[in-house]
Formats: sequence, structure tokens, C-alpha cells
Amino acid sequence: MLTRTHAAALFLLAALPLGAQTGWFRPSLLSKPELRKAMQSVDDRATGIVEEWIRLVEIPAPSGKEQTRAKYIRAEIEKLGLSGIRTDGIFNVSGVRKGTGGGPSVVFAAHMDTVFPEGTDLTVKREGDILRAPGVGDDTSNLLATLEMFRALDRGGVKTSGDLIFLASVQEETGLAGAKHWLENSGYRPDMFVAVDGSATEVWYGSLRINQFKFFYASPGAHTLESRGTPSPARAVAKAINALYGIPLPPVAEGLGTFKLPTLNVGMLGGGTVVNAIPREAWFTVDLRSLDSATQDKLESAVVSTVRRIGEMEGVGFRMERRMAVDYSRALPRQERLNHGVVQTAVATVNHFRKPGSPEIVPTDVGSTDANIAVSMGIPAVSVGAAVQRMPHRLEEYAEASTIIPGIKSLIALGFALTTH
Ligand SMILES: [Zn+2]
Repeated sequence: MLTRTHAAALFLLAALPLGAQTGWFRPSLLSKPELRKAMQSVDDRATGIVEEWIRLVEIPAPSGKEQTRAKYIRAEIEKLGLSGIRTDGIFNVSGVRKGTGGGPSVVFAAHMDTVFPEGTDLTVKREGDILRAPGVGDDTSNLLATLEMFRALDRGGVKTSGDLIFLASVQEETGLAGAKHWLENSGYRPDMFVAVDGSATEVWYGSLRINQFKFFYASPGAHTLESRGTPSPARAVAKAINALYGIPLPPVAEGLGTFKLPTLNVGMLGGGTVVNAIPREAWFTVDLRSLDSATQDKLESAVVSTVRRIGEMEGVGFRMERRMAVDYSRALPRQERLNHGVVQTAVATVNHFRKPGSPEIVPTDVGSTDANIAVSMGIPAVSVGAAVQRMPHRLEEYAEASTIIPGIKSLIALGFALTTH
């Protein structure tokens, strides 16, 4: 199936002038009675959709603790009669909406986890069309939108040629671990992969190189009274962080909007148990990101050697954990990824449904979503968002409630066009 899919994409691209590529989406598809019925059903349920979105945001789901959300999602997809419904060992929830045959299989994946720890106030505050809450956009908006997309396809009685696979993934925020586990162990090898993540204003077809580390320094510890001149993990952490921010980075890559890459970020630090002693252990994390493997590898070795060297200079013990390591050697070349039907169709659908008056959405060669794993495996992949949202990973996160409605319609159109062409 994949070969035929590729051939179709190449033919289509050859026949169209550059800039007029639309993949497999045609606005005329939307006049099919089943699709019209599906779209209308989303409008009819608009109020209920936003109410359910709010309820879902308020179910806590820190990475690794997604069980309650997973149960909710599983109960909902069971109502849809998907086949092969399963919750795997780490709580990824998936199910298959069978096609009539002969079309490619496509995964639609949204992640259940959020970056916010247990105890975070998740109460959604509504001000007009704005919903404010940690996790309201990333990725709860897209999780609900994907669920609603599958429901609406049923309500319209839409039949697709290829299978549509629903995946609610776990541990996206801590290294894309859920999607990796599912793609490696589920037994499915989809023809295409759509990560429903990020804002409705973005289409990503790449995969940022991401490495995440946790570095630890250790010592026997000592009372403050005996601490003078004694090796200190706390001081080593301070020196190491300072040194890391002194590593020269290549110039900021252009065309990435507000993203400034390559970059490194120390996001967490900690250690010690009392005020009046040298900590026995102190630690910090590093999140390192760039656009290509060569740059990333160079920066990674600079980071690791710097932290190791400072540990030696400070006379403290050193160890490290890696939270993320994806091998991109099987990834398709950039132009091939961009030209693939999955990306071109996504760009055409999101632009068809984008907010009136908002700028045209252009695909960007970045990505830090579940689609990265598919890209690394050579599976044609894209990342799209359903609702307009801002400030992910911050307590001030917010989203525009009404934008989820056209966003869901865009997913319906995308799912249909990708599986049935
Ligand atoms: Zn995120």
C-alpha cells in the first residue's frame, strides 16, 4: 500500500505547479452527504464539546500517571465500536476504525499526559471565548478533538477505504515514550502517522533532535560547620549550569517563528534535604534541541564533557541518566517528507478550515511530538493542532474555545482524505 501511496503522491506533485500542492484534499469532498452530516453533527454538539473539553482538562494526568484519563478515553471509544481496542502495559489506549479495504492505514495520535505535577490546580477559568488552565491546549484540546473526530465519522456514517487508528498516548512529555512503545510493540505498522498536537496555527513535518539528560553530583555530605573547603554537589551544580550556558551555540535558524534553535535549557534542579549540611546529592536536567543530527551530536558531547569535567574539578561523584534518545538514521530526507501526501493534505485541510482572516499556515521542518518517533522509523508523518492555543507548559496556558469546532472538522476532512483517495 505504501508504494502505491508514494506513486500517487509523486504523480500529483509532478502535475501541479509548486505552491499549488493540495495533497489528497479537495474542498468538493466536503459536499459528500456523509461528510456533511458528520460536520453538521460537530456544530450541533458545539456546546457539549467545549463542556467535555473542560471536564477532561480537570482530570489530572501528569506523565506516567495517565490512568484516570486512559479509563475515560477507553470507555468513550468502546461506545464507538472500534475494533482491537486495547490499553497496553503503560496505558496507551488504541482502537481501529476499520476501512472498507484498499486504502492506507493512518494513525491519529493525541497524548493524554501533561507536564504539570500532581496537585496543580487544573480548574478551567472561562473568560468569553478564552479557556485558561494548565494543559488546556497541550494536549487536552487535541485529545478531545481526536475523540470527537472519530465520533463524528460514526454519526455521519462515513466509510473510509483505509483503517483509521485512534491512539491516546502516554508519556509524550517525558521523551515520547508512549508513542515509541506503541509503534514498536502494537503490531501495527501504519502507512501514515498524524500527531494531533500543538496549535491549529501550525503544521510540522520534521523532527527536532531532542536529547534530555539528568545529571547528578554526589558527596559524603558534611555539617555546615565542617563544610568549608569540602567538595559540594550544590556548588558543582551551580558551576556546571553556569558553564553550560557559556557553550557557544550556532546562529539561530531562520523561519521557525518564535522558536530559537539550537538551544539548551536547564528545566529542573534540586538536591539536599536540610539547610545545615552539604547535600549528599544534587542534580539538574538539560533539554537539548537542534534541527539536525550533526549539530545535536556536537552539542551533546560538549554538554556531557562539560558536566563531567566540572564534577572532577569539584571533587564530587558524577552520574547521568538519559531520558530520550531517538535514532534518526532511518528518517526520510527533508524534501521527501515535505512533499509526501500526508503533509500536503494536512496543509490543505488546516488552511481550508483556518480562522478567517488569520495568516496562511505554512509547514515547518520542526517537531517535538509523537510524530518524531514515526519520522525516525521512516513512516510518513505530520503534526497538526485542532484549536488555537498559546503558552504550553506554563500555568498561564490558554486556548480559544470556539476554534476547536473547525479544528475537529479539519481532522475529519484530513482523516477521510488520507485514507480514501
Ligand atoms: Zn507539550
